[in-house]
Amino acid sequence: MGAECLFCRIVAGSIPAKRVYEDELCLAFADINPQAPTHLLVIPKEHIASTAHAEATHAALLGHLVAKAAEIAREARLAKGYRLVINTGDDGGQTVDHLHVHVLGGRHMSWPPG
Ligand code: AMP
Ligand code: ZN
Repeated sequence: MGAECLFCRIVAGSIPAKRVYEDELCLAFADINPQAPTHLLVIPKEHIASTAHAEATHAALLGHLVAKAAEIAREARLAKGYRLVINTGDDGGQTVDHLHVHVLGGRHMSWPPG
């Protein structure tokens, strides 16, 4: 993967994004079509299409993404709470086939999701 994947291109810097955090394993940036006052995406730098494509060897990386999402939410001052979302596949509403954790906050989230 690489040239044809939108989020791999953001990792590579060939498509611009408003980056808020980066380390050797992951990148966080602002969602282009925010669904809440704060809407960030946390993605692995390695191309993994979705949670359905993740292998047992990715367990630590998946944990890292969630831990960093929580840290980023703290940095974004979402002290009243926030929602982490990982959409997977068609029924899950996934539109970009590179695993990403949505960090949504700054307003009350309803349940169940649509
Ligand atoms: P999902 O529907 O869970 O696959 O989420 C994909 C997300 O990527 C959506 O919230 C889009 O708004 C967001 N998105 C699509 N293209 C870009 C982009 N170029 N930069 C930032 N976010 C994007
Ligand atoms: Zn990718």
